[in-house]
Amino acid sequence: MKKNKKLIAMLGGGQLGLMFTQKAKLMGEKVLILDPDKNCPAGKIADKFINSEYLDKEALQLIKDSCDSCTIEFENIPYKTLQILEKKIKVFPNSNAVKILQNRIFEKNFLKKENLPTTTFYEINSTNDLNLLLNINDWPYIIKTSTFGYDGKGQTIVNNFKELRLACQNLNSQSFVLEKKITLKKEVSQIAACYKNKIIFLPISENIHVNNILHKSLVPANITLESENAIKKITKDIINKLKYEGVLCVEFFIDNNDNILVNEIAPRTHNSGHYSIEGCNISQFEHQVKILLNHAPENSILLSPVVMINLLGDLWKNREPNFKLIDTENAFLHLYNKNEAKSGRKMGHFTIKNSSLNLAKKISDNIFNKLNEK
Ligand code: ADP
Ligand code: MG
Repeated sequence: MKKNKKLIAMLGGGQLGLMFTQKAKLMGEKVLILDPDKNCPAGKIADKFINSEYLDKEALQLIKDSCDSCTIEFENIPYKTLQILEKKIKVFPNSNAVKILQNRIFEKNFLKKENLPTTTFYEINSTNDLNLLLNINDWPYIIKTSTFGYDGKGQTIVNNFKELRLACQNLNSQSFVLEKKITLKKEVSQIAACYKNKIIFLPISENIHVNNILHKSLVPANITLESENAIKKITKDIINKLKYEGVLCVEFFIDNNDNILVNEIAPRTHNSGHYSIEGCNISQFEHQVKILLNHAPENSILLSPVVMINLLGDLWKNREPNFKLIDTENAFLHLYNKNEAKSGRKMGHFTIKNSSLNLAKKISDNIFNKLNEK
């Protein structure tokens, strides 16, 4: 008798889990979502939704019994959860990679140890560590909590030692990374789909942030071939050193001297890769599913220049935005089905394709401005 097809497991049911589930279902797969938030977007469309904590014994047993493979939608899944699951099923990415990448101190020290370029940094774990920084004279720096930071949360610019000390008191954490603030020429990111024996590099996106939150991504990124090659080489080194399988995103800074520096590494699909849903033949989410299913790797090809713009909760203030504006050819709207539109919360995004990147930029900016009109 034919064995029932198993589910594929996704830990985390936010928008990244949602878009993964949408793709997996289109591919004929069944998805299990685990998330402590009973209203999470992906839970609403999952074939099976477990609403519990990530270390809940029963939940993990159920995943081990009903799934062959498992992945994550965000780096703050306890790595112990992955260690438990790894004993029985395939887990992408591996728990050790997640353990490093969910802590900025571990991540920065990993980059330093492997001689990969990143911003100058100091780690602060105690008052003693803090006092050793009294002699810094090349301010400004940015202080970042070592864990749980996202969308610019948990970080502050500091211009002198006094501000640094104050920030350490105000930010709710015991450990920090203090990073040199650099003048950015550009921010770009490289998404890679890491199959067992092959890395697929998705087209590099150029990212514009507003208030430290990604506002839009432009693809292809306007960078030199030299920069592109350096970015791919660094990404490949990271993947090999972490023995990484799964989808990963490396965020890069390019400074005024064209130095390429790793900002941070996300062990998962990434907001800056949403353009790939319509912009590529194979999106970041399709790769994530294919890696879980042990499919053969295929290249992601850019189908046309593309711009992605995020829709934050602020747009919903007082009324529902007029999404008819996006109801045109080569425009694609994604709403994440979140319960409440809080300020700064990612509620959705839209994508504009055009044979000219400049035109895609103009069209998307125009739509975004109109969506914002009162
Ligand atoms: P998050 O986890 O919130 O994305 P990041 O470390 O990526 O944290 O910081 C968010 C944004 O803040 C970056 O994309 C960049 O625009 C800005 N930023 C962070 N660190 C630096 C730095 N060292 N120098 C200049 N800008 C920075
Ligand atoms: Mg970031």
